[in-house]
Amino acid sequence: MKRFLACLTALVAAVTFAVTFAVTAAPSAAAPSAAATMANTLTIYFIDVEGGKAALIVTPSGESFMIDAGFASNGRFNSMPDDPAKARDAQRVLLAAHDAGLTQIDHLLVSHYHADHFGAVMELAQLIPINEFIDHSAPSAAAEARVPGTFALYNDYVALRSKAKHHAAKAGDHFVLKDGVDIDVVASGGVVITKPLSGGGANNPACTSGGVPAQEVAENPNSTAIRLEYGAFSYLDVGDLTGPPLYALTCPVNLIGLADVYNIAHHGGADGSDPSLFEAVKPRAAIFSNAARKGAEAATLNTLRSLGIAGWQLHRTEQPGAVNMPDAQIANLDTTTTAWFKLSARRDGSFSITNGRTGQTISYPKR
Ligand SMILES: [Zn+2]
Repeated sequence: MKRFLACLTALVAAVTFAVTFAVTAAPSAAAPSAAATMANTLTIYFIDVEGGKAALIVTPSGESFMIDAGFASNGRFNSMPDDPAKARDAQRVLLAAHDAGLTQIDHLLVSHYHADHFGAVMELAQLIPINEFIDHSAPSAAAEARVPGTFALYNDYVALRSKAKHHAAKAGDHFVLKDGVDIDVVASGGVVITKPLSGGGANNPACTSGGVPAQEVAENPNSTAIRLEYGAFSYLDVGDLTGPPLYALTCPVNLIGLADVYNIAHHGGADGSDPSLFEAVKPRAAIFSNAARKGAEAATLNTLRSLGIAGWQLHRTEQPGAVNMPDAQIANLDTTTTAWFKLSARRDGSFSITNGRTGQTISYPKR
C-alpha cells in the first residue's frame, strides 16, 4: 500500500510536472510511464543547479542516495543559507524528490566543502528530512584560505549534521542499499583505494602522462568519489576530484573497472579532461554538471568526441573554443529553463536518459 501510494504520488507529481512544463517538455511516446519505470529501474536525476552539482539516486523501491545539492539561497559562491522557500537550488532538488515520490532523503553525500556542492544542504534539510550525512570529515585551513567563507558554511553544516546520522567516508567503504544497489567509496579526503574493485585491476595502457594538475588544490582533491553498481549497470561520480587522486583511480592500474555513466570530474573542466580515465572506464554517457561559463571546457569535450563518448551537458557551454554536443543532449540552451536529465537504469546494464527540456529519451542497450 505504501508502495502504491508512493507510486501514485510520483505519478501525480510527474503529471503535474508534465502539465506545468507542457510548452517546453512534451513527453515523447517512447518515454516509459512513471509507474513502470519505478518497478524495476534505478533512477538518477541530474539537477540543474547552474554550475553547482546535485545528483539524486533512487533505487527501484525508493531508497534515496543524494550526492551534493547545489548552492545556497540565490546561488552565488558566497551566498549563505536563507529562506528555504526562496532557495533556488534546494527548491529544484525538492521538485526532483517529489517527482520520485520521496518523502525523505535517506543518505546525502557531501562530496567536498565548496559552496556549489553543499551550500544548499541547510535549506534542503528544512524542506525534506535528511536521515544520514556522508562526507570527508572537515575542510582544512588551506581550504578556508583558498575560499574564504568555507568554514562559516561548514559550521552551519556541522550544526545540522550533529542532529542526524553521520558517516565519515574513507576509501574502501561500502554501502549496501535496497534492491541490490552497491556503492563503493573509491576516494575520500585525498586517499584513494589501493585494492581494485571487482572488475578492476588491469594495467591501463592509456596512461601516457602524469595527468592534468588540479585547478584548485586545497579542497577539490579531497572529494569523496563513489562507484555504484545495480546489476550490470555502473555509475561513477567523483565530485570535483582532480589532480593526483583522480589520476590514481585509473593509472597506472585501473582500480575501478568500467562505468556505464560517468559524472565528469569538476563539472567537466579541463582538469577532468585526461583521456586515460575515459579510456579505462569506457563510459557510454558522460554528464557535465556545468553552466554556460563554468565546466564543459573545450579540452574535455574534445576528449569525449575523440573517444566517441556521448556527452550530456546540463547547459550549452560558451567556454572558449568548446564545441557543444547535439542540442538533444543539452538540458538548457540558455538560462530561461531549469531542466534536468533523468536516467533510468536496468539490472541488465541497459539505461536511458530523458532530457527534461524536450521530454525526449535516448536509450543505450546493455554492453
Ligand atoms: Zn564544484
